[in-house]
Amino acid sequence: MTYPNFIHHGGASGVTGSCHQLVATAEHSLLVDCGLFQGEDAELDSLQQLEVKFDLSAIKALVVTHVHIDHVGRLPYLLAAGFTGPIFCSQPSAHLLPLVIEDALKIGFTRDEQLIEQFLERVQSQLVPLDYKQWFTLVDDKNLRLKIKLHRAGHILGSCYVEVALYYKAKKLKKRVVFSGDLGAPWSPLLPAPKSLYKCDYLVLESTYGDRLHSNRQNRLKRLQLAIEKALQNQGTVLIPAFSIGRTQELLYELEGLVHNASGLWQDLEIIVDSPLAAKFTQVYRQLKPYWDKEAQRRLQAGRHPLNFDNLYTINTHQEHEATVAYLAKTGRPAVVIAASGMCAGGRIVNYLKAMLGDAKHQVLFVGYQASGTPGRKIQKYGPTGGYVELDGQRYTIKAGVDTITGYSAHADQKDLVNFIKRMRYWPKEVRLVHGQEEARQALKAKIDALYAGKNYLVQVFLPVTKNT
Ligand SMILES: [Zn+2]
Repeated sequence: MTYPNFIHHGGASGVTGSCHQLVATAEHSLLVDCGLFQGEDAELDSLQQLEVKFDLSAIKALVVTHVHIDHVGRLPYLLAAGFTGPIFCSQPSAHLLPLVIEDALKIGFTRDEQLIEQFLERVQSQLVPLDYKQWFTLVDDKNLRLKIKLHRAGHILGSCYVEVALYYKAKKLKKRVVFSGDLGAPWSPLLPAPKSLYKCDYLVLESTYGDRLHSNRQNRLKRLQLAIEKALQNQGTVLIPAFSIGRTQELLYELEGLVHNASGLWQDLEIIVDSPLAAKFTQVYRQLKPYWDKEAQRRLQAGRHPLNFDNLYTINTHQEHEATVAYLAKTGRPAVVIAASGMCAGGRIVNYLKAMLGDAKHQVLFVGYQASGTPGRKIQKYGPTGGYVELDGQRYTIKAGVDTITGYSAHADQKDLVNFIKRMRYWPKEVRLVHGQEEARQALKAKIDALYAGKNYLVQVFLPVTKNT
């Protein structure tokens, strides 16, 4: 085997289950992410798929690029398989990770508080938070030096891409490897956009939106405003199904901006986050202001509170939740409700939909990708023609307005991904496209091949497949 080498344990031929092994030498490997398989990537016998069966003996450490469940959700299985090495992540991720793991354990593992506590203690004991842009030497023996450095990825708070510097001492050979994790889009609210590196030799690059371009920020902000104004005029509620981490906070940030600049009816608008988990994440986001971007810092300096404004309400208990659904459905008091799950496949948003889909004064606003087969996709598709959706086995006719805004995805689009390479001074010789559907990866591969064409560079673009382990 030539080194370095790569094994993709997940997230190669699909968008979830990210888990990549950098094989630096036979004795030294690094694992980047350990995520859950979800949606179409999840096999029927999911427990079998999640169990970690690959050889851990050479794996010196795990690096977590960010705390989305498709990047960290398999951590309990990794630890159960006997992994005792350090878990590296950024400082903000170290704050968020225990919340995510606790939630994942409760959903998929156990409700036993004591077990959960023990597990979280173990995670804490292995967790090593690193500052951005600081080298950390993981291996330095007679054959190899391996250092890692985290860079801001602009995807969600704490997200990073990972730079690995390898030095093969016998051959005096230096190699630089980069794992992109999930890269953020420029102009996304709250977080600074990722910057490219000076150089790398091997790049493992995500490709979620490898075949798409997002609409620009002004455009999507305008559409968000129009959708809400429509509901205000109709005396209805705007329902936004959203993930708890990342997108909810981006939306709150945008909504604060809209409320701040508007007058009249907007001042009465209630913005409700109906999700205890999202509320917890928002709290951590607020604590970590130093990691916000310049624009958000300016809002703070102007005395504003982008994630904690007057019109914002959070709902915790189930009782409060039920009361709010009933109240909003009955009174027509203008409100925006943000609740999970993002694709309406469960969670509190479902109760709102059941109570409000049949009434034309309400609006459903999609801001994220709706996978085929999910209720969200069905509402998006059949809503505009007055069709129906099945929720918990019952049919609901859709009379509420339905709208979709793209761009609040927290993911780089095709152009951003190509730019990530283009803006390096020295381009990689090997690019591995992971974390994308087949069409997205093919489209991105074509763009990267075109970028290199006629240049004094040879590139190998791989479309790796997940190794079944
Ligand atoms: Zn992500």
